[in-house]
Amino acid sequence: MVHFTCDLCGKDMTTSGDGRYVVKMEAYPGFDPNEIKEDDLDDDPMEAVSQLLQRDESLSSEDVAKTQTKGFRFDLCSTCHHKFVRDPLGKETLHQFDFSKN
Ligand SMILES: [Zn+2]
Repeated sequence: MVHFTCDLCGKDMTTSGDGRYVVKMEAYPGFDPNEIKEDDLDDDPMEAVSQLLQRDESLSSEDVAKTQTKGFRFDLCSTCHHKFVRDPLGKETLHQFDFSKN
């Protein structure tokens, strides 16, 4: 039998009968290959575009994303899932951490 524990609170979800929630997150550089800088527009616009295309060939955004993408997967119990969707980045928790009475 596959054993599941909550990645946040450590609760055993195998026997609790509570729902199990899976959270998947992906982090990658917000790189835009079509971004045109002011320098690119100095001269001939068509030349700037062709330079831009050449730049894309040498390093595509896909390559960048592949090497720098970080994927995360978490199993959460229903309680932690509820907390997570209310505050996915934990900003609330971060601010209240010192005052927590748990
Ligand atoms: Zn939990």
